[in-house]
Amino acid sequence: MLTLTREDVRLGCRAADWRAALEQAAAALVEAGRVSAEYREGLLAREAQSSTYLGHGIAIPHGTPESRRHVRSTGVRVLQFPEGIAWHDGSRVNLLVTIAAQSDEHLDILRQLTHVLERDGVGETLAGATSADEVIAALSRAPVSARCDAGTLCLGVPARDRLELALAAAARLRQAGCVDSSFVASVVGQLPLPLGLGLWLVYGTSGVQAPALALATPEQRFRDDVGEVSGVFCLAAQGDAHRALLMRLDGLLARGDGDRLAELPAEQILARLSGESAQAETARVRLLNAHGLHARPAKELVQVARAQAVQVRVRLLEGNGEAVSAASLTKVLGLGARRGQTLVFSAEGEGAAQAVSALAEAVRGGLGEPVTPLQETREESAARVARVVPAEPVAAPVADEPLTAVPAAPGLSIAPAYVLRLPELHYAERADDSAKERERLQRALDGARQQLETLVQRTVGGEVAQILSIHTEMLGDPELRDAAFEAIGEGASAEAGWWRAIDAAARTQEALADRLLAERAADLRDVGRRVLGLLCGVEMPMPPEQPYILVADDLGPSDVARLDTAKVRGLVTARGGATSHSAILARALGIAAVVGAGERVLALTTGVELIVDGESGRVVAAPSPARRQRTEKRIDEQEVLRRAAHARRHEEARTRDGHRVEICANLGNTAHAADAVERGAEGVGLLRTEFVFMAHPEAPDLATQISEYGEAFDALAGRPLVARTLDVGGDKPLAYWPMPQEDNPFLGVRGIRLTLMRPEVLETQLRALLTAAGTRPVRIMFPMVKDIEEFRAGKAIFDRVQAEVKAADVQLGVMIEVPSCALLAPTLAKEADFFSIGTNDLTQYTLAIDRGHPQLSAQSDALHPSVLRLIQLTVDAAHAEGRWVGVCGELGSDPHAIPVLVGLGVDELSVSSRRVPLVKAAVRELTLPRARELAELALRQPTAAAVREALEVV
Ligand code: PEP
Ligand code: MG
Repeated sequence: MLTLTREDVRLGCRAADWRAALEQAAAALVEAGRVSAEYREGLLAREAQSSTYLGHGIAIPHGTPESRRHVRSTGVRVLQFPEGIAWHDGSRVNLLVTIAAQSDEHLDILRQLTHVLERDGVGETLAGATSADEVIAALSRAPVSARCDAGTLCLGVPARDRLELALAAAARLRQAGCVDSSFVASVVGQLPLPLGLGLWLVYGTSGVQAPALALATPEQRFRDDVGEVSGVFCLAAQGDAHRALLMRLDGLLARGDGDRLAELPAEQILARLSGESAQAETARVRLLNAHGLHARPAKELVQVARAQAVQVRVRLLEGNGEAVSAASLTKVLGLGARRGQTLVFSAEGEGAAQAVSALAEAVRGGLGEPVTPLQETREESAARVARVVPAEPVAAPVADEPLTAVPAAPGLSIAPAYVLRLPELHYAERADDSAKERERLQRALDGARQQLETLVQRTVGGEVAQILSIHTEMLGDPELRDAAFEAIGEGASAEAGWWRAIDAAARTQEALADRLLAERAADLRDVGRRVLGLLCGVEMPMPPEQPYILVADDLGPSDVARLDTAKVRGLVTARGGATSHSAILARALGIAAVVGAGERVLALTTGVELIVDGESGRVVAAPSPARRQRTEKRIDEQEVLRRAAHARRHEEARTRDGHRVEICANLGNTAHAADAVERGAEGVGLLRTEFVFMAHPEAPDLATQISEYGEAFDALAGRPLVARTLDVGGDKPLAYWPMPQEDNPFLGVRGIRLTLMRPEVLETQLRALLTAAGTRPVRIMFPMVKDIEEFRAGKAIFDRVQAEVKAADVQLGVMIEVPSCALLAPTLAKEADFFSIGTNDLTQYTLAIDRGHPQLSAQSDALHPSVLRLIQLTVDAAHAEGRWVGVCGELGSDPHAIPVLVGLGVDELSVSSRRVPLVKAAVRELTLPRARELAELALRQPTAAAVREALEVV
């Protein structure tokens, strides 16, 4: 939102030409501390791409996406040139609204300005303004948009008269948060006004929070004492913002499109209300441009629209529905369309079909910008995988024969398998008897509700019960049922009608680009499938009551987080890698896991006994009695060791000859810090702060972050906390920080590269960490650093914040995850306080194997001698400068690797909390000379397999 102060406005500027004017604008932003001097180049480059002239004497210079890194904080500077300057595109400019934006905030500013431009004479007012206040008043009027969308429709009400419908519409506005109860009360006393064609209107002005238009329609048209009733509109009027709504209503009636309006599905009603006539040709297209429909692509679109033989209108499917002229730049910009949203073009008359498809094609082509497809939803990708997987049946693993895959989380367990397979559902799309179909659907809904209620009762507390309750709520949603009934009324079968309703609701959720809401979309589809299963008479898979080993194709981190840890004894997946974040989560939950076991495991039968050895990566189906006995014995022995280690968990880890190694915990959730301390952690060696960000529907603000980090500091009671700054990208996308799809995301914009592009995010995070720490020890490190330049760029921001916050006990370090950084460790060690080696990424980048690669990740072994040499280089360089080195990657908890790492001189190992006692116990088994010998032995080997073999033999 554009808020201006007097300092932001400069009146009476003069310039010889447009370049000189732009120089002044750049200098004004630099002076305000918004940008660094290099931003000027970005402004010029942007202007060279296409003019930023908006209309009415206003231009809006802003930098290119590449120049955003020179932006320190988002803001604008307004320069008034009363005499006007000749802009390079031939227009005359009186006002430069120069924008420094770190992300897509400039879209909102643009949107606001386009509303400003709609007012008559605004150009002259701004050019002739004699005070900053006048300019601010003219620019700062916030656009008030009136609501008329799916949330304000109330269709198929079983009403018998107009007043009942009026009340239903008013109540819908109250539920949508547009009005309060006094508005509803004011509607009660009104007699609806006739609009013709069976439509009626009630309206009110009291208790209106946001202008809006609702429509309530009856189950069936009826006649009451005054006339025919097919729908009642309810208008919440405020200022003049509702006028546009009235005009839309008027247009609808004038076109005669009000007839049978009430019998249309919601989507078409909204289309008619948006100004799209029943005869219009339409085309829909999703916008793929990374930065939405900003000025440059919008201009291209307008040019294509102007070249058409007929007038084309465009609306945003997800917006408040108003269709605007596609030939008007300000109107198109005013849509504020973002990547992923859907544009609907409409036109009438001869050539309409060609016109709308030309526009849709232009949007698909990127409107002059390179575009990348949207990422598939999980459903789509599952469907795609299902299509490419060969239909040939794959044989299940042979009884009692070990199948070796990728060890992902240690632990040994025996339990029956539960193979998660979603059954295929076949059904007819159409049915004749809609009453019967509605009845079938209602029965299935009741059945599903019963199933869920039983499940909720059986599940004791926790996240799983919570999810099941959400599912029950969803089943009871009248909107879903009504939408399905409506589709059935149009001839769909109960199955098709229900799935259409579920799919539409899930898509709407997904379009909101909010992680929590997107997860709700997955829940909606889960609920949908349950009902569909009942309709098709197919039983949906239900996890057994008894403990089991879950066998699945692949699991995402959120699937792992949802596992019922009381029952899941082990995890076997056909795909996935050891250092994928779902594997890391399994380790944190203490569930034995083997991943990348191949499709054969999916051919196992539910109930067959399985042994899962998460340490060696072995899975054995239907073990022989002898093997079973041996495994049980090993489980017992491991339990004895575990108990012994647990008893000494709070003691330091020293080798037999007294060399101390600090053992800390890796955390993703600050609430788990107390648990880590309880398990013997001497501090937190890696706080993956991105999980703090992922747990919020939008970027957590300063106060939220201070409170979350503060929770960990409190629990640590003076022990050190090593926090890694936000590390998203790669396999950890952040829903509210959409990134263009990259061919190689692990080699793309992630880690520090990404946060340096949004310095305000990094700055807030650093401020939060330092503030939360206060006098307690905090260690901060940057992820994915490739050389000293990136470290210095991050350090500059850190220094600025620390100069203000003055936290008492701080160190700033680097994660060694990129080979270049290990090779250049001597230069980094001079400036960084410490290193923490992220062996997961270091291995991925050294061996050039994607850490989650379904086939190759078994070879991605961090005990590879090349990785060990990089660790050796890092430790030597650090110690030469008196710095300490930790290992926070998964290698730190590998029993074979612990002696090698200690022998190489690593000072700290940070592992998942559960592993802390065992890692301490492993250190206590060693002597330093022996560990050094083993390290040297490992370094001499040619391959990872040879290292493992050599270490096993000695
Ligand atoms: C690593 O790469 O080893 C690491 C600790 O970071 P992450 O696994 O979160 O990428
Ligand atoms: Mg990493």
